[in-house]
Amino acid sequence: MDTSEYWQIRLNELRKALEKNNFEAYVAENSSEANNLVTRTVIPETGAKTVLRGDSMTCIEAGQLVNLDMVGNRVGGITFGPKHVIVLVGRNKIVPDLGSAMERTRNYAAPANAMRFGLQTPCAKTARCSDCSSPDRICNTWSILEKSYPKGRVKVVLINEDLGL
Ligand code: SF4
Repeated sequence: MDTSEYWQIRLNELRKALEKNNFEAYVAENSSEANNLVTRTVIPETGAKTVLRGDSMTCIEAGQLVNLDMVGNRVGGITFGPKHVIVLVGRNKIVPDLGSAMERTRNYAAPANAMRFGLQTPCAKTARCSDCSSPDRICNTWSILEKSYPKGRVKVVLINEDLGL
């Protein structure tokens, strides 16, 4: 069954919620359209260079972005520094609320990433978070972007495809 029409409605609702929170938001039908949008429109118009596609990024239906970082480079870049930031979000990263964002990240994205990178964390063996103290722990800094400041600094491209973890 083709669910793209369902997702078009959901993604457009989310685009409006993001815009209410001062993000610049777009909807692309697939990753190729997203790439064209970013390279032909968003970057030339704004000079934006920082593009984030983190597996630990989720988007809340009320129009906020949640990210969990190992090193802090993503949290740093998205909150302060670059004049413009572009975030690419697949439809599979949309969750209803903050609790769901944290649950999804801790019990799905982080363990799956730990497995992918061959890290020695408990979740790489159990597929569940145990709030570990492992030297390889990848869950160190959360960021919650409630609004973009200044207005339009953070640009979100919502993609009508399941992308990443
Ligand atoms: S805190 Fe540790 S166990 Fe939990 S998801 Fe992160 S790395 Fe895995």
